[in-house]
Amino acid sequence: MKKSWLIFLLFPALTFGSCVRKSYRPVYLSVEDGVDRHYLGEYRDDQRYLDLAKAMPDMRREALAHISKKAGLQRCGSNVLVSFRDGRGVKQGIYVKTGTRELDGEIVEVITFFVDRLLSGQMDDLEKSLHHEIVHATMRSCMEDRYKSLPKWFREGSAVWIAGQLPDRAEYILGNTLFSEDDPFSLLNGIESSRHSTDDYMEDSLLFEYIRQTKGPQAPIQLIKKTMTGLSPKKAFTEVSGQDWPALHSAFQQWARNFVAKKLQDAFHDEYQTALAAFKEDKAKARDLFSEFAKKHPDSFLTPLALYRAGKYHNFTGQFQEAIDTLNRLFGEKYKKHSYLLDDALVQIGWSLTELKKYPEAILRMEQLIRDYPDRPTIQGRAYYRIGLAYFESGKQFEAIRPLRKSLSRLSGKTQESCLVMLIKAYVKNRDWELAKDTLEKLESWFPKSKQLPRLRELVHKQRP
Ligand SMILES: [Zn+2]
Repeated sequence: MKKSWLIFLLFPALTFGSCVRKSYRPVYLSVEDGVDRHYLGEYRDDQRYLDLAKAMPDMRREALAHISKKAGLQRCGSNVLVSFRDGRGVKQGIYVKTGTRELDGEIVEVITFFVDRLLSGQMDDLEKSLHHEIVHATMRSCMEDRYKSLPKWFREGSAVWIAGQLPDRAEYILGNTLFSEDDPFSLLNGIESSRHSTDDYMEDSLLFEYIRQTKGPQAPIQLIKKTMTGLSPKKAFTEVSGQDWPALHSAFQQWARNFVAKKLQDAFHDEYQTALAAFKEDKAKARDLFSEFAKKHPDSFLTPLALYRAGKYHNFTGQFQEAIDTLNRLFGEKYKKHSYLLDDALVQIGWSLTELKKYPEAILRMEQLIRDYPDRPTIQGRAYYRIGLAYFESGKQFEAIRPLRKSLSRLSGKTQESCLVMLIKAYVKNRDWELAKDTLEKLESWFPKSKQLPRLRELVHKQRP
């Protein structure tokens, strides 16, 4: 399953609507040092938030200075504020937003970080993300509504490129695409592709990098400035490159294909593919090939994917402790920026822990997963299932009921069947005969071929007083 929302989280879109909302009057927003620290959300006493809020005025100042030095972008009149809140009710995967507000008669660009999402480890580089948002904010403060009318590929391509996010983002987007087993070259679907998604950010920013490499270090800055002073983006690209748009675009596409091919080659993609292909024939062989890959190429951007597969296949082959040791490496400093893997890795760890009968630890880590990924129903279903199983297997049938019920609607197939079986047994143990009977009927209708049915029928009907 493709997790483009996770990229969304690292490349948040510019939002909040096209016009200034005059009705917005936050009572708490203060402009002292450009940072509003009156956050009253769930993590207000969390030391990590307190450290972040304390560091933010300097980070903001440095980000403004950096953007001004690197791209000559200075805000025009309106101020740039940083603010914090929780992401509840905001589209999943977004951890920061930038929008225009009016505050005490002054127009301000407000960058809002969603603290709950920041702290769950789903963000790779706060500094660069802040640079990215500052680019949006400063360009918007100068161009006003004209900025919103620029094509998205220009707005996001320039922000990613100026913020220096391209190298990491390209690896992130390519890695996520390969994780979903999609063709990495399909990412190069043309700058003006109709459905612009966060996967397109790589191609968008590559165009700016292409101009830098072919026309010199100042060329991208020149074309951004030309656009800011009134030229259309295509016209600006044509003036700076000296080529008409179709010729420029087709030369760029060839260059971008070479870029992706080189990235894959440098990451030992062919070896990765060999391990992936081995899985169909021999799970243990695939597992060992992926472990070997990670050992041989610790710096390849495919190594986190190899570790994930090695860990998962350790589970498939009954090596549960090895699975945990392998998967835990994904949470270390070196690899955790590949955040699109972390929720699936935790699901696998939940499996290993329950198999090893480490029930309290399984419950703890699955509760963490549920807290950190509130918007992922499938992941939540699997986590609740593991919690229910852990309680059930440790003899706490009563405690197992709630998580099992929660997992039921979020699951399908074998796990759903196993969930119903445990629920029936827990209800019987609790002497909840009506619920036991209803759940048995559910099992009969959803899984009429379930091998557990005869025994459960006996359990429910014969033991019932
Ligand atoms: Zn953006």
